[in-house]
Amino acid sequence: MRIKPKILFLFPKWPGNALWGHFKFKFPPLGLLTLAGLTPDEYDVEFTDENVSTIDFDTDATLVAISVMTPLAYRAYEIGDKFRALGKTVIMGGIHVSMLPDEAAPHADAVVAGEADDLWLQVLNDFSKGELKPRYNSSLIDMNRDFPTARRDLLKSGCYVTRSTIQLMRGCPYDCEFCSVTAFSGRKFRFRPLEQFVKEFKSLPDPFVFIVDDNLLSNRKVAFELFEKLRDAKKWWGSQVTIAIADNDELLKKMAACGCKMLFIGFESLNQDNLQQMGKKFVTASKNADRIKKIQDHGIGILGSFIVGCDHDTDSVFDEQYEFILGTRLETFLISVLTPFPGTHLARRMEQEGRILNYEWNKYDMSTVVYQPTNFKPEVLQERYDELNRSLYSLSSIAHRSFKLRKSSFMFIMQNMGFRSAWQKLLETRGAGSR
Ligand code: SF4
Repeated sequence: MRIKPKILFLFPKWPGNALWGHFKFKFPPLGLLTLAGLTPDEYDVEFTDENVSTIDFDTDATLVAISVMTPLAYRAYEIGDKFRALGKTVIMGGIHVSMLPDEAAPHADAVVAGEADDLWLQVLNDFSKGELKPRYNSSLIDMNRDFPTARRDLLKSGCYVTRSTIQLMRGCPYDCEFCSVTAFSGRKFRFRPLEQFVKEFKSLPDPFVFIVDDNLLSNRKVAFELFEKLRDAKKWWGSQVTIAIADNDELLKKMAACGCKMLFIGFESLNQDNLQQMGKKFVTASKNADRIKKIQDHGIGILGSFIVGCDHDTDSVFDEQYEFILGTRLETFLISVLTPFPGTHLARRMEQEGRILNYEWNKYDMSTVVYQPTNFKPEVLQERYDELNRSLYSLSSIAHRSFKLRKSSFMFIMQNMGFRSAWQKLLETRGAGSR
């Protein structure tokens, strides 16, 4: 029997200074699992998420495909170098190497910049013929075609928040200053065929599904149709949307009726001048509280995402943020420090202003200050930011926020306890201790 060549798909470990590295349950790398799904049968496939298991450098895989996000870049390069020294062929892709392909090139045999889906078969074909090119540049793929089922079966069980993540569309026209989605996925919303998405959604193995789209409601007509088709799916689900959803009662009702229990919403800032600067003019800070209540009244909890350290933030931002999250009883939240990721407008502006303090990618974890803020010393911003998170993840704060939605309160308590534990561990590594 002919032995099939093997590909190892690899997701590197988060650095110890990153909050995400301290979560007990991880989030699956859907992009890598999708590439594994695209791989023809003539290859064997292996998957290692270094956050849940150790890398077997003695693997018999001949090709190693590594997905690289900015805070994981150093570890990815270290792994790439080691595998290449062992005679393996290494391919790197993902958002960081798409923005900085020349930086990644010395650590890989080939770098794929952009969405890899369409190029993957060509890359494998070139590899099998010994004609791998050092660089592949992808153009945005046409989503309106057959999609492979992501290889969620490769995920180690019991290690993930849910194995069931799925994507309906890519792209975003808003091009917010701090965000790399538009640079990577383009300005146009591109959708998978809805029927195919719904079929895959219904076949997913877990009772809770997370739809990873950056804005599920980018096309209202598609959204209405989707919610109609999900009515009989009998699953709870969550996704990302803009706060504008609160202004559409009919859509909210439909979402709630088909199992939506959690929405990730980027509020970013409570200061309208910051929102203006970011290009998030469609969020009206003064209306946030009413809109949040409206969504919660439909039985849908909110994971609110915020950024502190923006140019118009002053010392009051920490108290305001604290009061807002407790006052609106946000079920869960994620507060990041402003981070100038490579390829973003923010990084370019800060570079021009000479405000980037370091390019140590493992510190680009959204919880470490890597730039000069306008109204704080960096160490003061860091200290107040850590303190804000520590107080908002106190047990009394969790109890105050988590019990509002009876049916799903267990889910939000678990999420909050996960965040609390990750924050405690992170602060311990920073030597700040925890309460
Ligand atoms: S932050 Fe959200 S709305 Fe803004 S560009 Fe990124 S994905 Fe689009």
